[in-house]
Amino acid sequence: MCSDQKPIADRQLNMQFENSLSFARKLDRLDPLRAYRSQFLFPKHAGKPALYFCGNSLGLQPKTMRRALMAELDQWQQYGVEGHFRGENPWMYYHKLLKPQTARLVGGLPEEVVVMNTLTVNLHLMLVSFYRPQGTRYKIMMEAGAFPSDQYAIETQLRWHGLDPSDALIEIAPRAGSDHLHTEDILDAISTAGSSLALVMFSGVNYYTGQFFDIESITRAAHSVGAYAGFDLAHAAGNLPLRLHDWGVDFAAWCSYKYLNSGPGGPSGVFVHARHASNADLPRFGGWWGHDEQLRFQMRKGFSPMYGADGWQQSNAQILSFAAHKASLDLFDAVGMEALHKKSVQLTAYLEWILALHNPAGNRYKQITPLDSNARGCQISLLTDLNGKKMFDYLSEHGVICDWREPNVIRFAPVPLYNSFEDVWRLGQLLRL
Ligand SMILES: *Cc1c(COP(=O)(O)O)cnc(C)c1O
Repeated sequence: MCSDQKPIADRQLNMQFENSLSFARKLDRLDPLRAYRSQFLFPKHAGKPALYFCGNSLGLQPKTMRRALMAELDQWQQYGVEGHFRGENPWMYYHKLLKPQTARLVGGLPEEVVVMNTLTVNLHLMLVSFYRPQGTRYKIMMEAGAFPSDQYAIETQLRWHGLDPSDALIEIAPRAGSDHLHTEDILDAISTAGSSLALVMFSGVNYYTGQFFDIESITRAAHSVGAYAGFDLAHAAGNLPLRLHDWGVDFAAWCSYKYLNSGPGGPSGVFVHARHASNADLPRFGGWWGHDEQLRFQMRKGFSPMYGADGWQQSNAQILSFAAHKASLDLFDAVGMEALHKKSVQLTAYLEWILALHNPAGNRYKQITPLDSNARGCQISLLTDLNGKKMFDYLSEHGVICDWREPNVIRFAPVPLYNSFEDVWRLGQLLRL
């Protein structure tokens, strides 16, 4: 296996790297974001910080988070129910606090975003509005090998509409011999499906291969055949600069515990494009927090949704998890996605280079993440040979926290907010033969 792994010399690397501790430390010294690493709490291995490459699964804890949570516990202690209206950040309006930062994070307008619930729940809420099979237009297209929760959400939505997934679901798989999708194949498939297509729903970044899809082109193609375009940005939010408004995306949802470091089970964000902000034709499941806030406490009959994404809210804010999320969003706002991405490209390229260096014959593993840095974020996935699990176990025993996916894939996420070039070099030392 692994014979089609390209040798390093063939790669389009615009950076010259060296395999030495002093070189890695030099890059760290030159890194304008280096100070952020000290704002995070690293798990320990044998008394020393672990080499943490799992921020794509659960981001590390920002040091500011404990105080942010304590502040809300204090507020509750001090005011009880009146905490909804009193204190520094009254709970009644807490969801609004997250709006400007969330909008900047995904490239949306403030009225296009809201934080609520959890990711899979929000996918279902979005599908209620944006998957409306009618007559011969009833199919959904997604990438093959999407995250299981998304597969289950789509499958059960189809069945709920009385449709058979084997007919109504189109899954796009890579060409034979390729590990990821070619954009033109996705666009061709959309145009072939044509007016049978009701919805195209893709990941922003595929969780397994780390491929970053061309959201703008996919959206345009979906619209050109009269379908909606929605995206699951679980692995894209906080990883890549996004411009959801300009790209014309109809809806998107993401979680906050991966790259967004908001803690296990953290809340989800949702984007609904401004063109749907007051579209009364879109059916939805309502709750009191989505109801016109001027009338909310009149407790009367008749649902009248808020303008924009707010109108999809169900419940009052999950204050403790929102407070944790806010502490993390403050960091993203301070850094900015452009600066973060700049480091991400370099750090990921260094990891790619180091991984290739320790695989000179190409027979230990094969990178299944795209080589093109425009088609990925900060993740490199390796398809390993039969010794892959042994390699993974060896790394784990030596303080590396990364991720194993059956049957034989290892994923590394060098997260630009807190990983260093030295981390990457140290990982390489453990991969030496
Ligand atoms: C992580 C992830 C999920 C998890 O969904 P939850 O509802 O937050 O448990 C769903 N979809 C994708 C694509 C993911 O990467």
